[in-house]
Amino acid sequence: MVHTDVLPVLYDFAVTIGNEISLKPLLTRTLQRLLYFTSFPAGFICLDVPADDGLGGEVLVQIDAAVGDYDLIGLIGKQLALPKALLCGGATVRETARPELLSALTNMHTRYTTYLKLPIDGRGVIVLVAPKIPETELPLTQMFQPAMALLAKAILLCRNHDDYTGGLIAERNLLAGVFESSYSGVMLTDTQVRIVEVNPAFTRITGYTLDEVRGQNPHMLASGRHDLDFFKEMWSSLATHGHWEGEIWNRRKNGEVYPEWLNINQVRNKSGVLTNYVAIFSDISERKQAEAKIHQLAFYDQLTDLPNRRLLMDRLQQELAVSARSGEYGGVVFLDLDNFKSINDTKGHDVGDLLLGEVAKRLKECVRDGDTVARLGGDEFVVVLKSLSAHINEAATQAELVAEKIHAALVRPYQIKAHAHHTSSSIGIVLFKGHQESLDDLLKHADTAMYQAKTAGRNAIRFYDPTMQAALEARTELEADMRQALEKQQFCLYYQIQVDNRHRPLGAEVLLRWEHPERGLVSPVQFIALAEETGLIVPIGLWVQKTACEQLKLWQQNELTRGLTLSVNVSAKQFRQADFVAQVRKILLESGANSTQLKLELTESAVLENVEDTIGKMREIKALGVGFAMDDFGTGYSSLQYLKRLPLDQIKIDQSFVSDIATDPNDAAIVKTIIAMTQALGLDVIAEGVETLAQREFLDKHGCHAFQGYLFGRPVPLDQFEAMLRGKQVSLRHSSALP
Ligand code: C2E
Ligand code: MG
Ligand code: MG
Repeated sequence: MVHTDVLPVLYDFAVTIGNEISLKPLLTRTLQRLLYFTSFPAGFICLDVPADDGLGGEVLVQIDAAVGDYDLIGLIGKQLALPKALLCGGATVRETARPELLSALTNMHTRYTTYLKLPIDGRGVIVLVAPKIPETELPLTQMFQPAMALLAKAILLCRNHDDYTGGLIAERNLLAGVFESSYSGVMLTDTQVRIVEVNPAFTRITGYTLDEVRGQNPHMLASGRHDLDFFKEMWSSLATHGHWEGEIWNRRKNGEVYPEWLNINQVRNKSGVLTNYVAIFSDISERKQAEAKIHQLAFYDQLTDLPNRRLLMDRLQQELAVSARSGEYGGVVFLDLDNFKSINDTKGHDVGDLLLGEVAKRLKECVRDGDTVARLGGDEFVVVLKSLSAHINEAATQAELVAEKIHAALVRPYQIKAHAHHTSSSIGIVLFKGHQESLDDLLKHADTAMYQAKTAGRNAIRFYDPTMQAALEARTELEADMRQALEKQQFCLYYQIQVDNRHRPLGAEVLLRWEHPERGLVSPVQFIALAEETGLIVPIGLWVQKTACEQLKLWQQNELTRGLTLSVNVSAKQFRQADFVAQVRKILLESGANSTQLKLELTESAVLENVEDTIGKMREIKALGVGFAMDDFGTGYSSLQYLKRLPLDQIKIDQSFVSDIATDPNDAAIVKTIIAMTQALGLDVIAEGVETLAQREFLDKHGCHAFQGYLFGRPVPLDQFEAMLRGKQVSLRHSSALP
């Protein structure tokens, strides 16, 4: 076939043109080789044929290539005059006998009567002269048309090769069969990013034909799924590296959005000037669907769509790493339905499956967004709780709360196939922090705890850690007891004396005690935190304040006690109550106590939360006459900046500094600094936890003349406190039931 014979010539031609600068010799050589392959006897190339000035007259042309006839070959390079009409006429391919031509080709008129004319991009023409009777007996046009078409394309490229090297590269692929037959979509744009060429795969993928996209910006394919930054980055990569490659969502003509893998390259000519962009892309929606399917099968339980064991282990591994970094606990909650097997066996597997689906749904509703709910198989589920508290007891409480929520959610009746079904769950919990335990151990322990819950009679929650379990039980008990302690009047106040540097009583700090019928006297250290957590501190704190104020009122009648102040501890949670000021006002009013003898002790954590709100509240309370002390000073932030702004009366130096002032020069320096600072701010200062004479002397020497501590008296019940005051002087190292 002519077609296949011609192809290698054209290909060679196209490859060669990349290294040639001058067009004419190339065309000539190509024409020569083409004639050789097709046995076409002679060809002329006329470039830049003047088209404007009518069709009359003659044009001088040169025989550029000839094969198979010595006379003709001898004429190569010779000029002859051709009728202009022949070169510029409208028809692109014609077959006819033209006497004018024959007269021009002096000796040839007997043998060569036919010619083909091929325009070059409107700016030139190739004229082929053919034998009078083609040896093939085929009509001339039919015989050479395919070759002519390809030649036309090649010539077009040659013609513009300086400007369109990039196009040539794409066209070279075309000649190699890439462009047309490629499974990938190919799009060529000019430097203004206007589409100039697309291949059939482009049309197949996008639905747009070349005519529909020519001259358009490829952005017409945009799906709207990528933001401006995405494209900014693409163009910056193109500008700096000359290419960009990545996944992008585009929109087909029918509106469908699809993912493609896109590869864009800059095309530059020999002098390095940008000429085109070539985009090659493949539709990866099927691949992505397959990937998603594989992922779904590999990592999810097909019945409930929950993560399966594999994904669970992966997530758990991540959470261990997160926890190691943050120092926060995480939790693994292992649960199993108590009577699933019997439901499955008696009601049928389809009911069982639906039940599991509903359980999965309820479980997801019980946890936060980042938590993982997984199904291990059968009726076993695992929930991974992330970012719990950094304190083990708090974390245990948080995990337990979720477990209780799950418990309550799963026990609700299940409406399946018009029947109500019931089930309950047994839940095991294990906490983790960092990588202290392996993944397998964690799951095993959670499983063990779940098993314990089952053996404890089902429908229960158990922690793996025995000490944690014990702590949890104690805490739950303590909380239950505390709820009743107020009404059962189990709380009482102890009084610890505060004195000046001549041992004269200034007042007392009231300290809460709980007289528990079984536990005996419980220290606030053991229950204040829990009271804070549960909010019980609010009614308890009110009771303390009320009792203290009533005591102040009673002391008014007695000479010995009339001038004493009472310091009351106020917890952060209590102070942050919106109606705290109103409560203080009410208590003062109802008790009739002298407000100037009441002092409220705040801690730094209480005031720092919301400094503006704190200042506002403190001012209102101060306006009532009540004083303020900063408790445990030095253990918190001790920021001078806020200290200056707070309307405080007194600073209490924390006992941890006092205990070591005689031995630790560092603590001694801190205490000296605190004292100097309070003096500078015009505040009173008192030291707490003073146990030795050495401590007292140091403090006194450096300007702190008020003290509280075992050296002067332990916290004692009211009657003992009053008895102590009645003694002529306060005895040193007075002892009481509680340290
Ligand atoms: P705090 O307000 O700093 O009370 C001082 C604590 O130091 C008291 O412990 C007291 O018994 C102890 N203490 C006094 N002198 C000495 C001493 O010389 N050496 C030693 N080692 N300790 C001494 P307590 O009574 O166990 O109270 C502990 C904390 O409980 C208090 O610390 C306070 O923060 C809180 N608290 C006590 N009662 C109440 C209350 O009614 N309401 C609130 N919100 N918190 C209270
Ligand atoms: Mg205190
Ligand atoms: Mg204190």
